[in-house]
Amino acid sequence: MAQYTPMIQQYLAIKREYPDTFLFFRLGDFYELFFDDAITASRELEITLTGRDGGGDERIPMCGVPHHSADAYIAELLKKGYKVAVCEQVEDPKEAKGVVRREVTRVITPGTMMEGKWLTDKENNYMAAIAEADGRMGVAACDMSTGEMYVTSLFGKAGAALDEAMQYRPKELVVCGLPQDLKPDIPVTYIEAGAVDAFAVDRQYQDQARELDLAMRLAVNALLHYIGSTQKRSLTHMRLIKRYDAKQYLQMDSFSRRNLELTETIRDKSKKGSLLWLLDRTETAMGGRLLRRWIERPLLNKSELEARLDAVDHLKGDMLLRSDVRACLDRVYDLERLAGRVSYGNANARDLVQLRLSLEAVPELRQLLLNAGSPVLAELAEGMDECADIAAFLRSALVDDPPVSVREGGLIRPGYDEYLDKLHTASREGKNWIAQLEQAEREATGIRSLKVGFNKVFGYYIEVSRANLANVPAGRYERKQTLANAERFITPELKEKEALILEAEEKMVELEYQLFTAIRSEVANHIPRLQGLAERIAAVDVLQAFATVSDERGYVRPELVTTGECIIREGRHPVVEAVLDREKYVANDVEMNQSDRQILLITGPNMAGKSTYMRQIALIVIMAQIGCFVPAKAAKLSLVDQIFTRIGAADDLVGGHSTFMVEMLETKHALQKATAQSLILLDEIGRGTSTYDGMALAQAVIEYIREKIGAKTLFSTHYHELTGLEESLPGVVNVHARCEERDGKLLFLHKIEPGRADKSYGIHVAELAEMPGRVIERAREILAGLEAGAAAASAQDVQMTLDALWAAPAAAGQEEPASRLSPEEEAVTAELRELDLNQMTPMEAMLKLYEWKQRLKKT
Ligand code: ADP
Repeated sequence: MAQYTPMIQQYLAIKREYPDTFLFFRLGDFYELFFDDAITASRELEITLTGRDGGGDERIPMCGVPHHSADAYIAELLKKGYKVAVCEQVEDPKEAKGVVRREVTRVITPGTMMEGKWLTDKENNYMAAIAEADGRMGVAACDMSTGEMYVTSLFGKAGAALDEAMQYRPKELVVCGLPQDLKPDIPVTYIEAGAVDAFAVDRQYQDQARELDLAMRLAVNALLHYIGSTQKRSLTHMRLIKRYDAKQYLQMDSFSRRNLELTETIRDKSKKGSLLWLLDRTETAMGGRLLRRWIERPLLNKSELEARLDAVDHLKGDMLLRSDVRACLDRVYDLERLAGRVSYGNANARDLVQLRLSLEAVPELRQLLLNAGSPVLAELAEGMDECADIAAFLRSALVDDPPVSVREGGLIRPGYDEYLDKLHTASREGKNWIAQLEQAEREATGIRSLKVGFNKVFGYYIEVSRANLANVPAGRYERKQTLANAERFITPELKEKEALILEAEEKMVELEYQLFTAIRSEVANHIPRLQGLAERIAAVDVLQAFATVSDERGYVRPELVTTGECIIREGRHPVVEAVLDREKYVANDVEMNQSDRQILLITGPNMAGKSTYMRQIALIVIMAQIGCFVPAKAAKLSLVDQIFTRIGAADDLVGGHSTFMVEMLETKHALQKATAQSLILLDEIGRGTSTYDGMALAQAVIEYIREKIGAKTLFSTHYHELTGLEESLPGVVNVHARCEERDGKLLFLHKIEPGRADKSYGIHVAELAEMPGRVIERAREILAGLEAGAAAASAQDVQMTLDALWAAPAAAGQEEPASRLSPEEEAVTAELRELDLNQMTPMEAMLKLYEWKQRLKKT
């Protein structure tokens, strides 16, 4: 250390406190990065890596970015999940003795970004925390830019808490007092429970904190701890905490959310092509964010849903009202984030003008809703605080078009501050005097080309061309500067006026800044009012978006019932329909209930439309439960408490599980958690293993759902043998995706019809492909033989296989606590872990189980 120059020593001392960040070290007009930071940053940012002598034996790796364009680079690093500590010079280099003092003024992390330029308008920027206390898991999430904070707690393991936290799609996660083995694909910071201030939550949220249980408190405290350590400022805008119970909402695990493409597509994770994309006809940024939250948390409360549906109904029916409402919303800027910046102290005058313009749109919006003739809309409007006083205050205080900078004047409206007006007058009078000087001096001297000008070095001057120098009044003019063709002069009077103007302007700029910060602080006193208003505007915005889409796409109001039925007439997949063209999409009916039509068994070849049909039903249910109309001719729906899906190819192979194992884990999850009110979608369960194994498993799963759970289930399968269940298991009904042969070609009709598909379908296709006749014949013989054998797989075998599976290692993040096992038990467990079920027949599995049981008996 000692060998380094003092500046590098200073750098190293600061860097030691911020080991996990990129330290942007201010050096004149640049931010420099050194050592490993420089090497990584030069790669990540594609900037040149150089070196610098720092006193040591070797040159120190270094790279830098100009301070005025640093934001773009910081944004790039944040996007990649890195953190950045900004270290500024905190004293004037001219006055510094030795090395200029430097301090980290802020740490910017992906989850704590505040600045508009780093945020996406219609997306919250959440940061989440999980913690365990008192046998419960606490989950908290907040968005620094809007001031929202949500908190809940649940029974369960860290994996369940992580699942809940990930629903926010946070940019960062804080894990407090839990083992360091969670592996979400976002940056994680682990902190000790002992390190957080146990009363931070009380200070930040006062009385509201009392309603939180210990786990919630710890999670919030952990978040506040982390935010406090990065922000170094007060968080007055984070005043409202929303406590919720995850059971209030329709629950879906992360597999299902992804599978159903609610907010992003599976293929490229883009919003385009998701349900969110389809429904997003919001006009405001906060409406866009609320829509996303609603889609991620469908409701279970019928009366709340009916209220939303009433509002949508009304707005859908009254096109004129809707377009007026949209026009008002269009004038509203991002109130939540503006309020966030105001209280955070980084709002500029333009932000405040946007705030005012937004508020000025509210009275009209409110009147529209009050007069709409809809009780629900009227109630929303009644709760809207127009904040007219704030609007009036801002109107009186700030000019209409202020500059970006708040340090250069030009912000405050005349009439707002008497002293400022006086300064303005003084400066204006001085300027008028100078403006008239040119004419006066021309007349006095007779020099017609005489000019009065201004430059930064000499201030105001009188310029006379060389040809006219003879006429300059010698006593009064004082020579200041000589140019090629002219001379510049000043007069004592001119300098006196100039001093007046400059002094007034300097004072004005300073005064304007002071006035501006006072105005901003005044507005900051009303943040909760602004946030409350923003929330209601956002709700109106989402409701009009629903009405707009529903109207344009011909959706209908779902009838919410409590009979356990799910009846959809001519239902469509909202997104596929939108992408395909309405005419090309084939609408399909669904009829399910909890008695004789509980499980639909869907058969049909690949590409026939089975999984689209299943997804379409789930999406219609979700749309109804966020209060939107649905793509169908008519829909009668019972509220669903949970949706489980197992659709399409497993893409979660990160945990090292085979496709089949992932399939089994997801199925197990559904079987453990589902209730009679749930909806389960299973696509070709068992496909990942040998035919009999797979078929046996599929059948056992169906039986279990029918007998133990009672959830409405859609089950697509290639195993035609399973269609026999319709006869033996009440509640199971066959449907199939119809295909036809036309002109020797196979035609997918995408029509789901009653009954089973033609079982020798694959052979039929082979026939179409003009496979040799003998091959086709032989295939038919083999098929018949196989079918005869299939009946042999008894339910008991299947149960054994399932039991073995249930004992398989749990998904990542859901590990069982370690227990004391005997060496023999350890050995059996180890074998069980290694066992490759894909390679075993049920009989082999049974023999293995028998062997293990014998061995365990001895221990
Ligand atoms: P499967 O699950 O039976 O293999 P998919 O549901 O994936 O088949 O559907 C295959 C393709 O058929 C889809 O990509 C979609 O474009 C089209 N499709 C599915 N259902 C319909 C429908 N009802 N109307 C029109 N096209 C459809």
